This record gives sequence, structure tokens and C-alpha cells, in this order.
Amino acid sequence: MTVSRTAMIAGNWKMNYGPKQASSFTLEILPPLGQIIRKYPYVTSILCPPSISLAAVREVLDAMPVPRVELGAQNMYFEEKGAFTGEIAPDMVRELCESVILGHSERRGYFGETDELVNRKALAALSHRLRPIVCIGEDLAQYETGQTSEVIHTQVHASLANFTAEQAKDVVIAYEPIWAIGTGRAATAEGAGLVIHLIRRLYGKMYGADAAAAVRILYGGSVTSANISEFMAHPDIDGALVGGASLKPDFVEIVRKTVETMEQA
Ligand code: PEP
Repeated sequence: MTVSRTAMIAGNWKMNYGPKQASSFTLEILPPLGQIIRKYPYVTSILCPPSISLAAVREVLDAMPVPRVELGAQNMYFEEKGAFTGEIAPDMVRELCESVILGHSERRGYFGETDELVNRKALAALSHRLRPIVCIGEDLAQYETGQTSEVIHTQVHASLANFTAEQAKDVVIAYEPIWAIGTGRAATAEGAGLVIHLIRRLYGKMYGADAAAAVRILYGGSVTSANISEFMAHPDIDGALVGGASLKPDFVEIVRKTVETMEQA
């Protein structure tokens, strides 16, 4: 990655770890994570538990503060408040979190989230000083029929629309090819790097060269401590959104390898 953009490793716990388990897992990983992160100031790590466990994890993070270990939600609604049963509002997320994952492929696939909805959520997050981590990526059929560029083009223009040039710098984009999520079949660093390069180019056309240089673009899809170094060695890849491996101490190893790779660069 380019050193002017700091690395980011976010862990998406999905629908795992209720408050008690989330709290004890955070207590387990925080000390070794802190040791790595205190030594190396260029990596931010974000824990994204289910919404019901956010307060429990926040409590642990506040009791044992480690700089650049942050909290993120996995979703939120764009409205301020009101009759939206089951949803959480940007202000509520902001009380506890620095970031929010939006438009994850599981939200798009199982819950029918569209680019337009994801975009409304991203705009709401930005206006509440929450960092949106916006997920995009093609599915297997699209990948196999050579439609990746077209899909990415559409998603970038629709999910990442209407930001100001300043807001555009604060957004984090996660390129997550759906065929690589939870399958153990990660993309190659070269393949992911090519798509991420395209995303940055499209983003530059929308928001200018400064925003394109500042925006962090992560790779996600079967990242583990065994392959993170390859991704981090690629100049276009700024970090990772990690699912399965973020539920285990392997998450700490992923952050350690990220730091080691960046030190060697
Ligand atoms: C994810 O859920 O965003 C993800 C990338 O999952 P996994 O690392 O398990 O493939």
C-alpha cells in the first residue's frame, strides 16, 4: 500500500458473539493487538460485532484503551429516528462507534439492499461523522462471464454517489468479490489489485485526484494470516475486511503480518 494512506484491518464478526462472548473475546485479543498497534502507528484495527454486542465491546475498549483499535457497526438505517422497528439510527451508532459497514453482500443478497439504499446510508453516516465502510463486489456468475468491470462501474457510481470532495476522502471502500467470501477461495493479490486500481480510477473521476489518493480501499474475501502479506504488499490495497478469521486469535496475526509487511516495504 502507499504509505500516505494508513492501513486498516476491520473484522466483521457477522451474526456471531452475543454480549458476553464478544466481551470475553475482546478481552482476549486486545492485549496482543495493543502491543502490535502501539509499536506501529500506521495501522487501524476495527472490531465490528453484532449491534447487540456493541455496548459490551465498547465497555472493554474504554476500560483498556488502545489507540487505533476502534469499533464499527455492521449496518444501520439512514433515518434519524422513528417507527422503523428493528433498525438503528446513525446517532445511536455514533454514540458507540467510529465506523459502520454498509452494503455488505450479505445485506444486499439476503435483505435486498440496493446501491441506492447503501448510498443513502453512506451519506447519513458521513453527516454524523461516522466512517462508512462501503462494500462492493461481483458475484461468481458475473466474475466467470467477465462482467467484473461493468458491475464495479455500476456499484461505484450508484453506491458512492453525491459525496462532497472532502467527504469522499473519509470513505473506506471494501472490494469483496462475493465468490471469495467465506469460501476459502481468496482472490489473488494481483486480481484484487487490478479491480481496486479500477475503483480508485473511477473514484478519481467522480471526486478528483486528491480524494482518489486519500480513499482507503480494502480487499475482503477469505483473508487469513496465511495470505494477508500478499495483499498488503500490493501498492493499491490498503487493508482488509476480514470475516471468519476475525472470530479467532488469527485476527491478531493478520494485524501482525500487516505491520511486518509494511515495515518491509
Ligand atoms: C466478509 O464477511 O466480509 C468476509 C470477507 O468474510 P470471509 O473473510 O470469511 O471471507
